[in-house]
Amino acid sequence: MDFSLNDEQQMLQSTARKFAADILSAEAKHIEQHDVPASHALRQKFAEMGFLGMNLPTRYGGAGLGHFEAVLVLEELAKVSVAAAFPVFEASFGPSLAIAHFAPEELRQRILPAVCRGDMVVAVSMSEPQAGTALTDLKTTARLDGDKIILNGNKRWCSGAGHADAYVVYCRMSDAPGAKGIGAVLVEKDTDGFSFGAAESHMGWRGIPSADMYFDDVELPASNIIVPAGGFRQLMEAFDLERCGNTTMSLACGQSAFDYVLDYVQEREQFGKPIIEFQAVQLQLAQMKMKLDAARLLLYRAVSNAEQSLPTIADSSIAKCYANEIARDVTSAAVQLMGGYGFSKSYPMEQKMRDAWGWGIAGGSIDIQKINIAAALVGKRFNQRS
Ligand SMILES: Cc1cc2nc3c(=O)[nH]c(=O)nc-3n(C[C@H](O)[C@H](O)[C@H](O)COP(=O)(O)OP(=O)(O)OC[C@H]3O[C@@H](n4cnc5c(N)ncnc54)[C@H](O)[C@@H]3O)c2cc1C
Repeated sequence: MDFSLNDEQQMLQSTARKFAADILSAEAKHIEQHDVPASHALRQKFAEMGFLGMNLPTRYGGAGLGHFEAVLVLEELAKVSVAAAFPVFEASFGPSLAIAHFAPEELRQRILPAVCRGDMVVAVSMSEPQAGTALTDLKTTARLDGDKIILNGNKRWCSGAGHADAYVVYCRMSDAPGAKGIGAVLVEKDTDGFSFGAAESHMGWRGIPSADMYFDDVELPASNIIVPAGGFRQLMEAFDLERCGNTTMSLACGQSAFDYVLDYVQEREQFGKPIIEFQAVQLQLAQMKMKLDAARLLLYRAVSNAEQSLPTIADSSIAKCYANEIARDVTSAAVQLMGGYGFSKSYPMEQKMRDAWGWGIAGGSIDIQKINIAAALVGKRFNQRS
């Protein structure tokens, strides 16, 4: 087992790091201050660098690299800001991957090259007011009518709502109960009958808009079906990769908090010496470092085992759950180590703590990952309803 990056991977990582420092930092400040999404101009710069859909095949405009390379790049960008890096997350780990793996060829050709060019943002919409963790309770329906689909229902918490150009919408496509009736369709933003509620205001993730979404007799061509009823399992397989993107975002929050505070404790003096000289501070730093390294290894295992395919639910749930937990621990320890400066909005730490928190809810809560892990251990799904 080789734990070192090869020359190309090192080059990719340092290119992404330089891009983050030179280009992303200024835009990230603007995004946080004004709560606006990453601009079209920034997406096009990502595209020029080949950062959008890095792990998508070249025939769809991707870079044809592995998930591991995509993780290396995403981490460097998200260390600056998860909102600024969000288009890269969506294009390399989010709904685009469900399209790439499971949608009909015509839909792949229509959507993925535009995503990789930075001209299209695709968001995923699963959750509903009464269907969060209990996702298979979702009620949005897509009724087939000849070569059309009629969509009705309402969605909640979609990251990118109102901003994204197209939405992968999970919906009920047959009368079969539970997961069996669920499939997914693609809905473009300006389709008649599709509207958005008021913008949500969240504790973190400024610049990643969220709003309720309403589908009122929305008519779509049947060619917009990504997977028909019975495709829920495939959607969840694609979601195993989304979890690795989520893990990377958590890790980036934690790692960047650690890097910042490591410098800080060597500069900040109290009682006439740098606070790194106090053993209590040293112990905190050691704990943070051990957690980050463990999270990184779990993430690298999940994506390396997957190679060009999709990771297992066990590998991706373990990686996500652990990274979600330690990102909260590490960022809040970093706030504490900076004292009043950690709590101040003039310094980056409070934002990292707020942003880190969301990843342990998005993409399935921390506890639900633990249930996935236990299920994989014994080779069965636990029925949450009886
Ligand atoms: C920042 C953010 C971004 C998001 N982005 C998207 C998005 O892009 N698209 C989208 O569709 N959704 C998105 N979501 C929604 C997200 O997927 C849900 O919030 C999440 O699945 C939890 O659902 P809920 O909020 O309804 O909580 P609930 O399901 O009500 O859960 C509340 C608590 O109960 C616990 N719980 C529930 N059932 C069980 C059980 N059986 N066993 C143990 N514990 C249980 C949960 O772990 C949780 O702690 C986002 C959410 C957040 C916070």
